[in-house]
Amino acid sequence: MKRLLLLLFVLIFSTQVFAREDFRTYYSTLDYPAVWINPKNIKVYIYPDEYKEQILRNAFNTWDGALRSNLDFKYVDEPSKADITIKYVKKLDGRNAGETKTGHVKLQGKVYLGRADISIAKTNYIGFTCTDLELLKTALHEIGHAIGILGHSKNITDIMYYSTASHRQSTLSDKDIETVNKIYGF
Ligand SMILES: [Zn+2]
Repeated sequence: MKRLLLLLFVLIFSTQVFAREDFRTYYSTLDYPAVWINPKNIKVYIYPDEYKEQILRNAFNTWDGALRSNLDFKYVDEPSKADITIKYVKKLDGRNAGETKTGHVKLQGKVYLGRADISIAKTNYIGFTCTDLELLKTALHEIGHAIGILGHSKNITDIMYYSTASHRQSTLSDKDIETVNKIYGF
């Protein structure tokens, strides 16, 4: 009888741990998480473009501020020196508002990011010019992929919700921030 009670206790405890994790992050829905080896020194290159370059910078600064001293972006003056590059393009394939191509290295079972190249579309899939708010949302979302959120959230209030067209928020949610913290173990 004592053994049965102990077993029951363990089962209930595990369920609660999982429930709490799902409440704070969407880590379990990711394809797989990946990290930069040196998150305090991620080098970023923004392609010079008189077209709303400040929006891209704001998006990086928002993530940088939310993750405090755990993760830092440093701007570099050449794409070859960068870990992450970002640029505007006229349009992307299909309904994509943004796109991030990542390169990975696998070391002792852990996935590390080696490079991330982000493209942000100036026009949406029906040909309309994206608003500043849409550009900001897309940039925040794509930077999320570039720092290791390889996958999406099912929650519409998270910036990493899978459909950019339906984003309601233009800010990072607590879950977005906690998911990155969990990926890195901060
Ligand atoms: Zn995405």
